[in-house]
Amino acid sequence: MRILVTGGAGFIGSHLCERLLDEGHDVVCLDNYFTGSKENVAHLLDNYRFELIRHDVTLPVFLEVDQIYNFACPASPIHYQYNPVKTVKTSVMGAINMLGMAKRVGARILQASTSEVYGDPEVHPQPESYWGNVNCIGLRSCYDEGKRVAETLFMDYHRQNDVDTRIVRIFNTYGPRMHPNDGRVVSNFIVQALRGEELTVYGTGEQTRSFCYVDDLVEGIIRLMNTEDDDIHLPVNLGNPGEFTMNELAQEVSKASGENINIKHLPLPQDDPKQRQPNINRANELLNWSPKIPLAEGLKKTVDYFAERIKT
Ligand code: NAD
Ligand code: UDP
Repeated sequence: MRILVTGGAGFIGSHLCERLLDEGHDVVCLDNYFTGSKENVAHLLDNYRFELIRHDVTLPVFLEVDQIYNFACPASPIHYQYNPVKTVKTSVMGAINMLGMAKRVGARILQASTSEVYGDPEVHPQPESYWGNVNCIGLRSCYDEGKRVAETLFMDYHRQNDVDTRIVRIFNTYGPRMHPNDGRVVSNFIVQALRGEELTVYGTGEQTRSFCYVDDLVEGIIRLMNTEDDDIHLPVNLGNPGEFTMNELAQEVSKASGENINIKHLPLPQDDPKQRQPNINRANELLNWSPKIPLAEGLKKTVDYFAERIKT
């Protein structure tokens, strides 16, 4: 197949491009390099089945493809809050442009949504049936509401135009090719530990997240794209149900890196969710998927990547 990956030069997108090429597909990677980089896909450039396009998804684009993975959107709070209006445009206009293309060429299309659609959840763990608790005027809303509208558009293009859609709600994912200055907790802690700096824990550090290694996530995403089922157009959670406080994560990073750590507490950002853990029953039943890589193992691989990257 010929497959388009928007945001393909980013952290998750680059792993997806790599995996799709390994499976023998032609891959078109489209990115505006806001948070991604050519470096993330440099190792793919020699492959004649790989094409790289600099383009912004807020603008229309005309390509002929069989499948579209719509991953273009900054994912780290510091990046999506840098230009919040642009973040909303990326999610909403990006979804409209990609859905329009899917409709025109009859491509199947998958949207990268997020656990952020659950906001600061009052139901724990979060099943797909939970409608969420999002502050629609807060600092995180450009991302959360942008993704919620993207989901709405996907369901409406499916109901109204019969576009073959998929929606994945991704929970915190980590691994090699996260940007060292990305600002998300796993990359921050690892880079800080390797540089001998204090680990910046926001608030008390008792808030929780559940961390999925990128290879597990990519496996689930590809299964979702290629599964047929009457219910397949409804959102599917993908994430690792292992839940950790940020204080526990700091200790895990210390073990994985072999570094002694000191902690510095900084203020908790506005609307920071207190707890988050995916209910993955639906992914289990529909896709026969569950994550395989425990946090300690995934952190080791990620530490190795950052150790090499910091050296160079
Ligand atoms: P990332 O920032 O590394 O990747 C996003 C990519 O999209 C980058 O390459 C960036 O340059 C590109 N991009 C941003 N705006 C664009 C635009 N207007 N036009 C074209 N390209 C644009 O982040 P990531 O972690 O790889 O996230 C990828 C997707 O997965 C995002 O849609 C994100 O919302 C979603 N997601 C990620 C996580 C996670 O934990 N990593 C969790 C939930 C959802
Ligand atoms: N966090 C932290 N120190 C950091 C970066 C983040 O304690 O240096 C906390 C943050 O407040 C949040 C959690 O780690 O509670 C996860 O943050 P991240 O930005 O990685 O993801 P998100 O909040 O979007 O789930």
